[in-house]
Amino acid sequence: MELVQVAQLLSDRVNALAESETIAMAKKARELAAQGHKVIKLNFGEPDFPTPQHIKDAAKQAIDDNFSYYTPVAGINELRQAIADKLKRDNNLDWKAENIVVSTGAKQSIANALLCLLNPGDEVIVFTPYWVSYSEMIKLAEGTAVLVEGKAENGYKVTPQQVREAITPRTKAILYSSPCNPTGAVFTRAELEAIAEIVAENENIFVIADEIYEYINFLQEPYFSIGSIAAIKDRVATINGFSKGFAMTGWRIGYMAAPKWLANACDKLQGQVTSATCSITQKAALAGLTSPLTPTYEMAKVYLQRRDLVLGLLNDIPGIKTEIPDGAFYLFPDVSAYFGKSDGESVIKNSDDLSMYLLNKAYIALVPGSAFGADKCIRISYAAANEDLIEAIRRMKEALAKLQ
Ligand code: PMP
Ligand code: GLU
Repeated sequence: MELVQVAQLLSDRVNALAESETIAMAKKARELAAQGHKVIKLNFGEPDFPTPQHIKDAAKQAIDDNFSYYTPVAGINELRQAIADKLKRDNNLDWKAENIVVSTGAKQSIANALLCLLNPGDEVIVFTPYWVSYSEMIKLAEGTAVLVEGKAENGYKVTPQQVREAITPRTKAILYSSPCNPTGAVFTRAELEAIAEIVAENENIFVIADEIYEYINFLQEPYFSIGSIAAIKDRVATINGFSKGFAMTGWRIGYMAAPKWLANACDKLQGQVTSATCSITQKAALAGLTSPLTPTYEMAKVYLQRRDLVLGLLNDIPGIKTEIPDGAFYLFPDVSAYFGKSDGESVIKNSDDLSMYLLNKAYIALVPGSAFGADKCIRISYAAANEDLIEAIRRMKEALAKLQ
């Protein structure tokens, strides 16, 4: 009775919204851990490394300098300039400080962009498997997510032909992450150029490129940003942040680089909703961007070693099919061979059941592929210590062997 009343009080907007599965899984894992179980958490997509020392030092200095006041909504000018310089240096993007809007995270920047671009019924082509929050953010902005499936046989990457076929007169934007969360797939320059050609032909389509895993890139070729393609550069919002490359998830800082009209709109929106992100965090991020990226590249090297370690261990488990990801810190194996099997108590029907089975019986927290629009798979974050990774895959193998 009480629940019905509460639901009636809430807006249709929020009632229609699903809870973030990555965050829901983190909660469940914490609950089991609080009951005393040794849960190995490979569910949450966050670096296990601490924030590099020079970044922490800059924050301490900012506190001592009383840098504790509101800053301009889009961020302090030095930081916006440093981001513009970084985008030139690393991504060949020609933006000025005025094109940069610093936010509380890439998450907020994506939401800002969608809320500023979409009218009710506008379609957004989302490459799947996709990061959990995209579809819900689009819903919040009253748009429609048009899911286009990157097939396993194409390394989970959507092809230009698929993009062409998904376009309708209502298509307003294309949204994807590269490196991709959850698959780790990275688009090559040639692939992005082919997609950009289609965007160039459709002048009302905007691209939102989520580049948050940029620095965790194992491709042999340099990282390529679609926004650097001259024919469409005025129709690309590049999203990035400090959570992954600088191990700063809790500091809450990200940014968008976009044409002035969109940057101004996001500044206005953010000015009514959150204002600027934390002043201390901005100083810390500035130190990160203006210092050598040695810690960032060191972390990326370790992720690559861990990727290979876990790939090797997974290959030893029958029925698991894993693509080799070129970036981010996730593996996204196809586990559908276990669907229809049972441990004698319950039948595993889908990725949700398998994830709950592994959590409750083997105390390994993962995220079901269903959260990312790919129910055959599960997502394993390997941003964890080697011994935890080894023990988790051992437990996984043992638990899966009990399914008949
Ligand atoms: N995009 C992707 C693809 C992500 O995995 C994440 C993970 N948090 C985000 C955006 C949001 O990052 P942030 O911490 O900067 O909000
Ligand atoms: N992006 C991370 C993940 O996919 C963090 C959780 C979140 O922000 O949703 O797990």
